[in-house]
Amino acid sequence: MSSFSSMDGRPVVLALIRVIQENAAYLSEIDGQIGDGDHGINMNKGFSMVEKNLPEAPLHLADGFELLGDTLLTEIGGSMGPLYGMIFMEMGDVCQGKDAIDSATFGAMLRAALAAVQSLGDARVGDKTLVDTLVPALEAYEAALAAGDDFAPALAKMAAAAEAGKDSTRDLVARIGRASRLGERSRGHLDPGATSCYLLLQALADSITARLEA
Ligand code: ADP
Ligand code: MG
Repeated sequence: MSSFSSMDGRPVVLALIRVIQENAAYLSEIDGQIGDGDHGINMNKGFSMVEKNLPEAPLHLADGFELLGDTLLTEIGGSMGPLYGMIFMEMGDVCQGKDAIDSATFGAMLRAALAAVQSLGDARVGDKTLVDTLVPALEAYEAALAAGDDFAPALAKMAAAAEAGKDSTRDLVARIGRASRLGERSRGHLDPGATSCYLLLQALADSITARLEA
């Protein structure tokens, strides 16, 4: 059964930082269509601050995610600071103390991420939030493991479901957060949080897949 070393925290966290930096303008652009246009700015600020504070030495993924979570919680504004902050804090907690991270541990990390979001904001599938990305991603991942898939194919299915979930937000009317004030006018636009969540899950899948050992 394949796994990756928990001491790969630095490259995995750097992959998340890069995808946010590269997509910051795009995320703000889509937030501008149904929100206040700050999503990419907020995210880029937090993730770039983590880049500055990331130690050079090998870093346990739990410590990398704790640094990320703590920075997002305390340093970035908007709805997403606390949400992504708690997501990474909780994901870090699950892998704490482990030498290697296998598919079951990663599944528990994803489940903890969803629990964190739902305990903070109570968003459901269909409300046009990052929950529309996270829930199908988690379900596809768990279904893949249950069907006997190894880590890499399960990650690929997770990322594909995250993308489809993100795309599903285009036709939804926002029921939560700032965009809900637009009512029907929020339809026809992607949700920025669902989009950043997809980008992060895809980057996570890619960087983990590149590090898997038999
Ligand atoms: P703000 O709306 O305060 O400007 P951001 O622009 O950073 O914050 O984030 C907007 C995103 O926050 C939305 O796209 C949506 O996905 C997400 N969001 C808002 N409230 C919630 C919630 N209660 N649960 C999950 N996601 C939420
Ligand atoms: Mg915003």
